[in-house]
Amino acid sequence: MQGDFALHHRVFFRLGIESVPVKVPSDLDSIDGLVIPGGESTTLSLLINSFELREPLINFGKDHPVMGICAGLIMMAKEVPDERVQPFGFLNITVDRNAYGRQIESSTEMVKYHFNSNTEIELATTLIRAPKISEMGDDIQVLGEFNGSPVAVISGHHLGLSFHPELDEIDIFHQILFDPSSKYYTKKSNQVYAT
Ligand code: GLN
Repeated sequence: MQGDFALHHRVFFRLGIESVPVKVPSDLDSIDGLVIPGGESTTLSLLINSFELREPLINFGKDHPVMGICAGLIMMAKEVPDERVQPFGFLNITVDRNAYGRQIESSTEMVKYHFNSNTEIELATTLIRAPKISEMGDDIQVLGEFNGSPVAVISGHHLGLSFHPELDEIDIFHQILFDPSSKYYTKKSNQVYAT
């Protein structure tokens, strides 16, 4: 309903995974997992309430994979110190909005990610008015960090990213969402594949 959802459809197309937009509660009946795209978390909170999606989304997240990207990460959090945002609490984290600076301070950094103990992969990491994870519970696993702050976290079947992998045609996080048990990754040109 908001944000750069079109690029996420493209990622799923490349992975051979069918994807549909979610706008009303019944759209959740036919899907196995959900991406909450980047956009604006205050607007997302308003739209989720006015489309009566709050309870259905919270129930969906209990037993399905959900990945939150940027504004979506904010929606995944337990605590957001901004009363205009009503997050779902899927990830045991506190998230500060816009903590990397304003739009003009947006940047693409190279960040090293560890998907398992013996694989390190450097990926483009585009931060756009990005949120910062300021606190997290013991169950949260950090996949990558930039300047000492986590930018990719996972807990059970929930993933949260401060950045936008879809802008750099990075598909691995969408792949992990549907196959968290993938252990080995190979790198082909600037793409990363689970094998
Ligand atoms: N700053 C936005 C927010 O607080 C997030 C920006 C983004 O999704 N790129 O919701």
